[in-house]
Formats: sequence, C-alpha cells, structure tokens
Amino acid sequence: MRSIPRQSVLAVAALAAFSSFPVVGLAASPEEARLLTDVRQLTFEGRRAGEGYFSSDGTQLIFQSEREPENPFYQIYLMDLETGDTRRVSPGIGKTTCAWIHPSGEKLLFASSHLDPAARQKQKEELEKRAAGKTRSYSWSFDEFYDIFEVPTEGDEPVNLTNALGYDAEGSWSPDGEHILFASNRHAYKTELSPEEQEILKKDASYFMELYIMKADGSDLRRLTDQPGYDGGPFFSQDGKKIVWRRFTEDGGAAEVHVMNVDGTGEKAITRLGAMSWAPYFHPSGDYVIFATSVQGFRNFELYLVDAEGKGEPVRVTHSEGFDGLPVFSPDGTRLSWSSSRTGDKKPQIFMASWNDGEARKLLGLDGAGQRSAAPAEALPPVPATKAAIDTADLEGHVKILASEDFEGRLTGTDGERKATAYVAAAFEALGLAPAGADGGYFQPFDFTAAVKLGAGNSLSIDGIETGTALDQDWRPLGLSASGKVEAAEVVFAGYGIVAPAEAGQAAYDSYGTLDVQDRWAFVLRYLPEDIEQDRRQQLYRYAELSYKAAVARRKGARGLIVASGPRSKVKAQLVPLSFEAAAAGAELAAVSVTDDVASALLATADKKLQTLQQALDSGETVEGFVLPGVRVGAEIDLIPETRQGRNVIARLPADGAASDQPAIVVGAHVDHLGRGVEGKSLARPEEEGQVHPGADDNASGVAALLEIAQYLADLEARGKLDLKRDLVFAAWSGEELGLLGSSHYVRSLKGKNADLGGKVAAYLNMDMVGRLDGQLILQGVGSSSVWPREIERRNAPVGLSISTSDSAFLATDATAFYLAGVPVLNAFTGPHGEYSTPRDRAETLNYPGLQKVARFMALVARGLATAEAAPDYIRQEGGSPRRRMSRVYLGTIPDYTQGDGQGTRISGVAKGGPAAAGGLEDGDIVVEMAGQSIANIYDYASALDALKVGEPAAFVVLRDGKRVELSITPGARQ
Ligand SMILES: [Zn+2]
Repeated sequence: MRSIPRQSVLAVAALAAFSSFPVVGLAASPEEARLLTDVRQLTFEGRRAGEGYFSSDGTQLIFQSEREPENPFYQIYLMDLETGDTRRVSPGIGKTTCAWIHPSGEKLLFASSHLDPAARQKQKEELEKRAAGKTRSYSWSFDEFYDIFEVPTEGDEPVNLTNALGYDAEGSWSPDGEHILFASNRHAYKTELSPEEQEILKKDASYFMELYIMKADGSDLRRLTDQPGYDGGPFFSQDGKKIVWRRFTEDGGAAEVHVMNVDGTGEKAITRLGAMSWAPYFHPSGDYVIFATSVQGFRNFELYLVDAEGKGEPVRVTHSEGFDGLPVFSPDGTRLSWSSSRTGDKKPQIFMASWNDGEARKLLGLDGAGQRSAAPAEALPPVPATKAAIDTADLEGHVKILASEDFEGRLTGTDGERKATAYVAAAFEALGLAPAGADGGYFQPFDFTAAVKLGAGNSLSIDGIETGTALDQDWRPLGLSASGKVEAAEVVFAGYGIVAPAEAGQAAYDSYGTLDVQDRWAFVLRYLPEDIEQDRRQQLYRYAELSYKAAVARRKGARGLIVASGPRSKVKAQLVPLSFEAAAAGAELAAVSVTDDVASALLATADKKLQTLQQALDSGETVEGFVLPGVRVGAEIDLIPETRQGRNVIARLPADGAASDQPAIVVGAHVDHLGRGVEGKSLARPEEEGQVHPGADDNASGVAALLEIAQYLADLEARGKLDLKRDLVFAAWSGEELGLLGSSHYVRSLKGKNADLGGKVAAYLNMDMVGRLDGQLILQGVGSSSVWPREIERRNAPVGLSISTSDSAFLATDATAFYLAGVPVLNAFTGPHGEYSTPRDRAETLNYPGLQKVARFMALVARGLATAEAAPDYIRQEGGSPRRRMSRVYLGTIPDYTQGDGQGTRISGVAKGGPAAAGGLEDGDIVVEMAGQSIANIYDYASALDALKVGEPAAFVVLRDGKRVELSITPGARQ
C-alpha cells in the first residue's frame, strides 16, 4: 500500500488531482528535461495502474492495475520489458497490492485478501456501487484480511507468509533475498487497546502501522518502529544496509521521509517540508532518495530528490500538473518509473523515463567537494615502498607527503583531508592490514555541523511595545536555537537565567524561584552578575553558558529564550554572534538575542529600567522575576546547518582465534590539521593569513610514526615473531583540531549504550606532535594506569630516550576521548614550539632521527601490551574534561594544554595586539599566578580566567627563563 497511504487526507486530494486538470502532453517540460528524458507512458489498460517495481536485472516490471472485468480491485501483473508480454500473477480474487520480485527472479510477493471468505461479495458490491455511479471519496481500504503471499514466478498456489490478523503489506525482499521488510498494524489486533485507541482503530487503522522485518521464510519477526502515526512504504537501499520510509504525523496531516539502518538504529528524518512527503526510494548508489510530495499542493503531487543524509534542500524533479508519485529507479540507476496522471483520461498509469544521474548529483551538490565518502570503490593513491624496520627516511617520506601543499593543511571535511586519509588507507592496505572502519572499509566517516547560517525565513514579532524587529539589527537567533515557528506568547523576565545548586560554602542561586515560565518566553541577561565575589563567580560561572541557560529554560517549560547583554556587560556586540558549538546542538527551544534597546523597551512595560535592574542583579541581589504586561512575542527561526563529513582511517592486525575477542590495543594519531587556518586556532602572523598550515609536527609526525609502527608490527607478525594475545588496531583520526570529533565518534561507535569501553579496548597509545624532539620526550597520562612506569622503563631501555612523565590524562588530544571512556592512555609529545599552528610548521623543521626513536619506543610499548596476557588496569583521576568554556574574557593567549602537572601553565602563543601582548606576556612564559591565585595546571588557569573581569587590570606572575616576572594584564572582551 504505497499508492494511497492515507485514506482521510491524501486520497481525497489525489482523487481531485486525477480528475480536474486539462490534458497535458507527454513530453517533459523544459524543467523536467533536466533530469528526465524519453518520457513515455508504459501502461494503458484498465482503469488505473501504479506501483511498478523492477526485477533485480531490470528486465521485468511488476505492478498493480485495476483491469479485470469481474474484479474492480487491484490485481498484480508482471510485464516483460523486452517483449511487452504481461500477465496476471495474483489470484484474481479479492484485493492485492504492493508486489515485489525476488532478486533471483524466481518468486514474487504481494499482499492479498483472496482468503477473505467475503472477497467475492466485496467485489460484487463495489462493482454495483461503481455501476450506480455513486460518487465516493477514494479511500484505501486497510482490509484486515490483507496478508503477504509468496508465489513462484511460474504459477502455483500463493504461500501465506504473514498469517496474522491486521493489515500486512508494503513488503519487499532485501537485495540478498534473505529478509522481507513490510508494514503492519498487527499489534493493534493483539494488544489490549484503550477505549480511545479502539476508537482510532475503527476510524483510522493506519494510525497503528509500523515497520517489521522478518526472515524470508516468515520466521524471526522483528518490529523496527514504535511511533504513533503511520510508518510505511519501506524499501531497502541497494546495498541492503539502509531502510527508507515515510512517517506520518499522529494526526495524519503531514509526512516526512526517514532513513535508518536495517537493525532499526540511526533513525532520522531527511525531509523537513511540513507537507505530505512519501513514497521514498533510494537511488541504487545510495547517495540520494526520490520521493513524492504535496509541497506544490495536494492537487499537484510532484517528485523531488533529497540527499540520503538529508543535507541541503530537496530538488524538484517533475513539473506536470496533477499527480506524480510512487517513483522507483531501475537497478542500474539509468531509468525512472513512476505513476502519473498526465494521461489522456487523467487516471494514473505507469510512466518510464531515462534518468540523468550526473545532473541530479550536480543539483544536490553531490558532484564535488560535498560528495559522500566511503564509496567502496574509491581508488587509493600509490604509496612509496618502505622498509619493515622503523626507518628515519621512511618517516621523512611520509611527513613530506602529508604536509605537502597538495594536502592543503588537511582540514576535516575538505579535499585535503580526503587526500590525506586516502593516503593513510592506501598505506594500511599496502601493509596487508585488515580494514576496520565502517562498511568493511578502512574509512569511518562521521558527520559534523561545521556552522549554521541564517535561512530566508527568520522573523520576530513583538506586540505591546514600539520597537524595531529587523534581523541582525535588533535581534538575531542564537546558533543553538531550534528552527521553526513559535506562536506568540507572554514574556517573563528571569534575571540572569541561572540556576545553581549550593556548593563549597556558597548558597544556591536561582533566577527563576517560583516564576511560572510554562509556554512563555524566558527573558534573561547574558553572562553572570558582574560585581559578586570571586568564589561566587566561580560557582555561577559553570551555569552561565547560554547553552546551559537554554537548557534550564526548556526544563521549566519555556517556549523560547530571549537574551540581552545589558549595558553593564561591556560587550563588543550586543547581539550574540551566530556561532555554532557542537556541544550545544540539539536544543529544543527557540532562542534569540536582542539589543539593549529592545530589552529596555520590553522592561519598560513593567516600569523597569534595564540599567538599574542589571545593577541590582550584579550586586548579587536576587531580583524577583516578573511577567511583562501586555507583551507577546512570536518568532519564526530558520537556521541552516552546514553539515560536513570527515573520516577516520582504521585498520586491524588481528590476533589468532579467540584472542581476537580480547580487548584490543589501539594506536592512534590525528591526521587532520587547520587547512588554511581555522579562526581562533591559527597562530599565523598577519602576513601569513590564508596560507596552508602544513602541520608537519602537528600531526604528520604522529601519522608517519603510526604507519611505521604498523609496518614494523605487521612484519613481525608475518614472520611469526609476534604472539598476539589481542588485536592491534591502528587509527588515524580526523576532526581532532575541531574538538576530538573523530576519536570521540570512534569511541561512541564502539561503546554503544555501554558506560565505557571496558572489554573492547585494553589501552590507547596516542602520538600528537612527536617530530620536534629536543631534549626530552614527554609522556602524558601516566597516572591512568599502574603499568606505565614499568612499561616505560622496559621499552625505553633499548631506545634510550630522555623521558619526562606527567600523570594527568585530561589532555587536549584524542587520548582524552578514550580516557573518559575508561581506557588507560599514554600520549607521546615532543613539546610546543614557535611554529605551532602556523604556516611555518613545515617538514624541514622536524627532527627525523628523534622521530624514529619516539616511533620505535611507542612500537615496543604497543608490542609489549599486545603480547601480554593481562590488560593494563585503569586508574580514575579527579578533575574534569578540558571542556572548552565560553568566556567573554579575552587575553589573546594560547595556553599549552599539554603541559605537565604542577608547574604552571605554559603559554605557547600570544596574539599580536591582544591584551596579553599589551601587558608584556611572551611566548614560552609559564603563568604561575593570576589575580592572586596560584596556577598549577590548565584547570587552574581556566578557572582563574573565568573569574577575571573585562577592563579590570589583573596581576600575573610568570616564569621566564626561570625568573619570576610580574605583569599587569587588562582583559578585553571576546566578541
Ligand atoms: Zn595535534
């Protein structure tokens, strides 16, 4: 029943569409000709036809048609597309629908009600009704006698596969023929229904339709969806890994196209048209989906395309008045078959056309940089031959290629990153390592939102005050806002919008109190009270982030959040910049910032002044929240996320037999870097702006070491000299520079719903910036397991490095993603330098003999762990993740997150012209005191920074060449 999915709404509309338009020609309109050529009507016989599906070799089409004199209902027909021979393959009695051809071509399936004892009676009644010319709104019958039947292609009795009361239909075989996917409302007939549900079942049985999958013999039935509203019309992708279907809203008023993995995970909507979007079908490439939608009106369903990930806007395919729907691609992707009412009598029949895949890709932005990765057929580049031993020249060769101009700084989601990851994959393949990425390949792609931009549909309405509401002038959505329409609602002022529990001698703080925020806008100030004491600031700071305030407002039932800076915050811009932070994604409420002028006008309705109100709040006083009388705010928010895809490269050197089930040793290094400079991360000088940041040390050095370690160990294994007690996994992460995206994705994918990675990963070895050995190798995370001191001693004995260790495992590199998931980690690092994060981090600046030693040491550590019987223990450390905090205080420093414990925070970069530079801070200074607080590590540094105030000089004490130097730095405002 893909044809008329909803009797109440769609069918009526579709019927209207079929009968009220003038005849249109068959030739495709110029707009259609872009994608469809050689358009022709395929079926002519009978009243109507639809739901044509190709055989797996593309030579046959199975479809339904009303064309039997004795039976007014659909029966199933099989057409040979080469000879035109067509024959009925269904019993001829009762109703049928939703046919499919087995991939072998030897059997067929369809839904049929021929076992209904009253089937013939129903036929007769229907014929009489039609003969009497009784008008009836076309209504699909959810006949509870529908079951799915299998029948051999060469005649025989149909076999019932789904003998259950309820509507079973919309079935198809998986591409390998082993499973059947279908839709059913059977649970409504089995479970105890409430009186309301019984009412619904009587009126609209489709409400209970859900997706099911079973083995091809009808066994092993599993339900895949569990949502009120009609889930139906499911199809497999050609690789058998995904399912596409349409889901109706509970009231049946709209439907969107969804995709998920065949096991029911990873479900997401790929259309957001708010119309009736249904009958989706994958292109055989799996890259995009075609579907029908009412977005042009119910009388004019048209076919559209959408990227299979739901990125970007849908693209229109057909331009013909009346109905176009039920599209399917031929298995080779060169033809499209669909049902259209562009016929002489305006009754729908099946049409066929040639399909322009290249143009479709262009229109969807899938032809170039935006193309989805992990295509199994991707050709990997050649890699130089390298020696089995860990070799200085081989390391230099890898670094030179990875850090070359051609790889353009390897920014995640760009061509440069794709080239670099392809290079790593090719190297893994050359070593004979097993692919351990997604879909049986070396790559593990992950999506990330790179930014948001304003769409065309943003508007704000404020009734009750005189004020401008110009976008970007008077107001702006926050990057974390949900998109959509917010009906006009009242506004309540809630101070700084902070709710913080009592802790460490500080009383609780609650901006809301007993204020009723339900279905209203919460109107709050940005940041936190300005004039409170240090300790109070420290307490409140963590609850003052906008994403946190939005979460609190939502929890209190608010419809939206309005944020104003207030005159006392000394911000550069009153409207919050449209930035995107991955951590804040997914907020489920509207959030906007407004200017102080708008804020003042709002507060004036309650006879309050913004300045005095903020002053009172800033003193620490709690100001009772209040409703703004007579004010109603409505909004339409339209934010367009820019999603990109990055990819990890993962390979495995498997242990034999059961040892392969033991937790693995993972060795990794991030392969991505800053491209031509990422804002806020690049330390390029003004004259270097826009240049490629080659990232030779950061982290071509680590990847080169990774490849050499993998080769060394793979060679040992091949020669029978490595008795693995567990697998070795080698990983090149992407997205590290943008926030540990790749390693976190890997950890999540492995962890699933478990609390940690225990049982899957025994230890993680990381290398990030190991190419500038100058004195000591720094080993971090030593406190994460008791085994490290012993292992370090043993494995360094043959190498002879000078090593310094630090315990903390909270590091600004991929090791942290593993540590937080319960895995002992060890990170190798040769120290910060002046070329860090600049276009000057070039291959010729590296110490290759030093890199060779580091790689050799780490290879021996990996070997030791992988051949040991026992996995290392895990030691939990106090502290937190070095979560990036939103601070409005701006110093213009890059603190070195990789510093050791207890000796202050080294500054590895100072922005020219920034407040820190103006105060005399220099690269390499170690901050040991800030505003009277002693600084032992990066956490002290971050929290002391939180407590600084914009525009107020703060005393800094730094160590410079071993001497204490006192400085005064006046923090500026960030943005
Ligand atoms: Zn790095």
